[in-house]
Amino acid sequence: MHAAARLVTSHLTWLACLAAALPAFAQAPVTYRVSFPAPEHHYAQVDVTFPNVPEGALEARMSRSSPGRYALHEYAKNVFELQAFDGKGRALPASRPNPYQWDVAGHDGTVRIVYKVYGDHVDGTYLAIDPTHAHMNMPATLLWARGFDRRSVRITFEPPKGLAWVPATQLYPTDDPWTFTAPNLQYLMDSPTELSAQTIRTFTVRGADGREASIRVALHHDAGDREVNEYVSGAEKIVREQGAVFGEYPEFEPGHYTFLGDYVPWGGGDGMEHRNSTVVAAPVSLRTPGMVVDVLDTVSHEFFHAWNVERIRPRTLEPFSFEEANISGELWLAEGFTQYYGNLIMARSGLSRRDDAGPGLARAAITVINSPGRQFRSAVQMSQMAPFTDAARSVDRTNFNTTFISYYTYGAAVALALDLSLRDRSNGNVSLDDYMRAMWRIHGRPGGSEAGLVGKPYTLADARARLAEVSGDRAFADEFFDKYIEGREVADYARLLSRAGYVLRKRNPGVAWMGPANLADGSGTINNLVPWGSPAFNAGLDQGDVILDVDGRAMAGGVLQAALRARKPGDRLTITYKRRGGATGTATVVLAEDPALDVVTVEAAGGTLTSDQRAFREAWLGSKARP
Ligand SMILES: [Zn+2]
Repeated sequence: MHAAARLVTSHLTWLACLAAALPAFAQAPVTYRVSFPAPEHHYAQVDVTFPNVPEGALEARMSRSSPGRYALHEYAKNVFELQAFDGKGRALPASRPNPYQWDVAGHDGTVRIVYKVYGDHVDGTYLAIDPTHAHMNMPATLLWARGFDRRSVRITFEPPKGLAWVPATQLYPTDDPWTFTAPNLQYLMDSPTELSAQTIRTFTVRGADGREASIRVALHHDAGDREVNEYVSGAEKIVREQGAVFGEYPEFEPGHYTFLGDYVPWGGGDGMEHRNSTVVAAPVSLRTPGMVVDVLDTVSHEFFHAWNVERIRPRTLEPFSFEEANISGELWLAEGFTQYYGNLIMARSGLSRRDDAGPGLARAAITVINSPGRQFRSAVQMSQMAPFTDAARSVDRTNFNTTFISYYTYGAAVALALDLSLRDRSNGNVSLDDYMRAMWRIHGRPGGSEAGLVGKPYTLADARARLAEVSGDRAFADEFFDKYIEGREVADYARLLSRAGYVLRKRNPGVAWMGPANLADGSGTINNLVPWGSPAFNAGLDQGDVILDVDGRAMAGGVLQAALRARKPGDRLTITYKRRGGATGTATVVLAEDPALDVVTVEAAGGTLTSDQRAFREAWLGSKARP
C-alpha cells in the first residue's frame, strides 16, 4: 500500500474509534436498496441512506480499486443522475472535490443518495446488468462514505418483475430472502452478488478437525443437469483435496462458501477470489465437450485463495484501500503459489492427467529461466508491478514483454522450486503443504475482530521466518529467499525435477538462435520488442527495423530461417537493415544456442524410473484427500 493510502487508513481508523465511542444508536446500519427498473438498459438504481452522519459534509465516494485487483478502475465514471437528500427529503447539493467523490453538506444527520450506475461487463471486477442477470461487483456498484467503514450494512435487492431470479452472495442472509447484511465496508465491498435464474447446489465437507463446511455452487449457465452434475462433482473433488493440504477449512462466516459461476457465451472470462465466495466466469457454454474440466481449473485456483490471500494475507493488502491502487511485494506468494496449487490440485484430484502434471507444473519455471525480465526484477519487484500490469491499460507503449514476468508465473516457479527443495532435503518428510499449513496456523487461522478484517497479516520477513521454522534450517530459508525471491537467480530445476523422475533438457540442442523464431515477418519488419540480451538485441536490432538482406541474400519469407539452419551457435550472421527515418545499417549477429527447454518423464527420455523417483513423484502428485 502507498504511504499516502496509509495516511488515509489511519484517518479512517481514528474516525472509526470515534464512532465506536458514540452511544449504540449511532451504530444504525447504512442501508442500500438496489433495483433494476429496465435491465435491457444495463443500469442499476441505487438508493443509500447514511444515518447518524457527523457534522460537516458527508464524503461519498465510488471506489477506485477492487479487492483482488491491483490497477485503478475508476468506477465513478459510470455513475449518473445522482441526487442527495436530507432526512426530511429536502434536496441537498453535492459538490465534486475530486473525480471520485460527492460532498454533501447542510444535512440534518441523515443523508440519502440516489443514483444510477451503468454496467455491461461480466467478470469479477465490473458490473453487468441485462435481462438474464444482475452480476454485481460491489466496488463497481455501491457508493460508500468516508468514516463509515466500520458501520454495519443492510442491503435489499429488488429483482425486475416477471423474471425468476434468485440471489447468490456471501453477504449474510436475513429472514427476507432479498435482504442481506455485512458487518463492515471491507466485507460489503468483498461480496459480489449474482441475481439470475441460476442453479444452486450445496454439498458438505468435513476437515480433519471434524468441523463441517457448507459449499454452495451457484451457476448461471445454458447447459443441462448432466453438465451441472459434472461441474459440482469436480468442484467437490477440488474442495476436498485442498482441505487436505491445510487439514481444515476456514470458518466461512455467513455459514457457507459460494462459487458464483457465470458461464454464458455472451459473458466474460475471469476468476476473482473473495473471503467466502468467488466469481468464476467464462464466455462459454458448459455444453461444449470438455468445457467443464477446462473451467474447473479456475475453480481450483480461486478456492485455494479462501486460505491464501483472503486469510493468509499480506500486510501490504490489509486493509485494502478503495481509494488508491494497492501495491504488494508478496503477490508471488498470494497469486503465484495459488497458481501452482491450482494446477497441482487438478492433478491430485484426478481432474487433470497425472502424466502431464510434472511437465505442466514445470512450465512456469521454464518461462522464468528464459525470460529476459529476470535481469531487471525479482519476484518481489515483479509483484510490485501489478498496478501497471493487472488489468491495467496504457495508451503509450511499455517494454513489459522484455522487462516483466507475471508474478503468477514467477511465483508458481518459486513454489515448484520450494516444494521440490523441501521434499528433496527432508527425504519427503517436509513439503510445501507443511509451509502453507504453518502460514495458515500463524497468520490465517487466528482471524480478525470481524469478518472482512485480518488480524495477523504477514510481511516478507514473516514468510521467511515460517520457512526457517518449517525447514528447521534458518540458513536454507535465508538462502532461498535471498536468491530466488528477493534476488534474481533461478533454482537448479534440472536436479530438483530429476528427483521426481523428470528430465529438464534443451529442446533444440546445437541449433543456432538469434531471438524469437518469428523475429521478423516475411517483409523483414521486426514487429515486437527484441528480447533484452538476445543475439539480435546485442547486435543492435529492435522493433521497427526492417531487415533488407541476410548475408547478402535479399530478405523474403524463410530466408532468415534458412540462414540459421545453415549455421551453428557461435557463428556470425550479417544483416543489413533500414530503420525509422530511413537510415540503413549493418548488424553482425553472434548466434547462440537455442535456449528453449522441455521437461519430459525420464521414461520418455529413454531412462528408467527408479523406485525412489516413483515414490517421490507419487508423494508430490498423488491424492491426499481422505476417501
Ligand atoms: Zn488468484
